[in-house]
Amino acid sequence: MTANELQELRNKIDEVNLQILTLLNERAEIVQEIGENKEKQGVVRFDPVRERQALDLILEKHDGPFESSTIQHLFKEIFKASLELQEDDHKKALLVSRKARPENTIVDVNDEKIGNGEQQFIMGPCAVEGYDQVKAVAIAMKEQGLTLMRGGAFKPRTSPYDFQGLGIEGLQILRKVADEVGMSVISEILSPEDVEEALDYVDVIQVGARNMQNFELLKTVGRVKKPVLLKRGLSATIDEFINAAEYIISQGNDQIILCERGIRTYEKATRNTLDISAVPVLKKETHLPVIVDVTHSTGRKDLLFPTAKAALAIGADAVMAEVHPDPAVALSDSAQQMNIPEFNEFMNDLKEFKGKLA
Ligand code: PEP
Ligand code: MN
Repeated sequence: MTANELQELRNKIDEVNLQILTLLNERAEIVQEIGENKEKQGVVRFDPVRERQALDLILEKHDGPFESSTIQHLFKEIFKASLELQEDDHKKALLVSRKARPENTIVDVNDEKIGNGEQQFIMGPCAVEGYDQVKAVAIAMKEQGLTLMRGGAFKPRTSPYDFQGLGIEGLQILRKVADEVGMSVISEILSPEDVEEALDYVDVIQVGARNMQNFELLKTVGRVKKPVLLKRGLSATIDEFINAAEYIISQGNDQIILCERGIRTYEKATRNTLDISAVPVLKKETHLPVIVDVTHSTGRKDLLFPTAKAALAIGADAVMAEVHPDPAVALSDSAQQMNIPEFNEFMNDLKEFKGKLA
């Protein structure tokens, strides 16, 4: 074949490509028209019987060089792309997505803002064990200029025989200390039935990793007028995490803070694997503030500072970590909580690092 002949064939291919393109677009317009009609009639768009008929007709006429399975595959792709064209707007743009709302959502916790560019710190014990314990942590936090205090009253434990938390009494302790010291309370609620009562005591409702896909809980916290701190599930993909937040916002509550807290992988060096790149991914895909829990993602005190620096450097809106006046006697997560001198060192070093970042 001469170079000229080859060029001629290539030109023909280009022409056919353009014909296919014209036909695909023509087809897409017809599909859209059908979609609009189905929408008006309230009929579901995907019609497998109709798709089968269309495929059968194509395969009946098909006698070209392609295998039937190849033709079937190619047309299936065209069908799929067409169906996507017809998809509802809410599927194309979730309410939590940047597409739906380009500007950042700023979560307001008693006038303390999360997501406004000022990076915050959420500290406090793993679990509420008593008034004195919470008060000691609150005072240390106050001295560091912090007001966002975490503490578990309802504890989701792997074993039913482990300390389950003080429940409502724990929330009462948190509220009392918070009011005395001037703090806001962030605490996990495990079940939809407890949400209403918890509203009297907490400023932010935490939905824990183990409940990220507890859809009834998500819907319930979506209906209240309190911010929600949603933690990523132990083995949840980012897409699943985003959809969990969508459950909340779809009920009307847009005050949602996303928390990366490490995911389960084969790695054993840390309790979980901190997926640090989830932070920019979530900030790009959603308009919600994104924070990093360095305690549960590492499970190691020696890694709290380096991972917190990484979180601030990558643009997290806050860092969360656990502090206990005497971690050795803590009823949960004893090995990974900082004591108060360690907390002070952590905060001082982190503030210095933050200053360098700015
Ligand atoms: C917690 O923050 O108290 C907690 C239990 O964390 P997670 O849900 O991320 O395991
Ligand atoms: Mn803990």
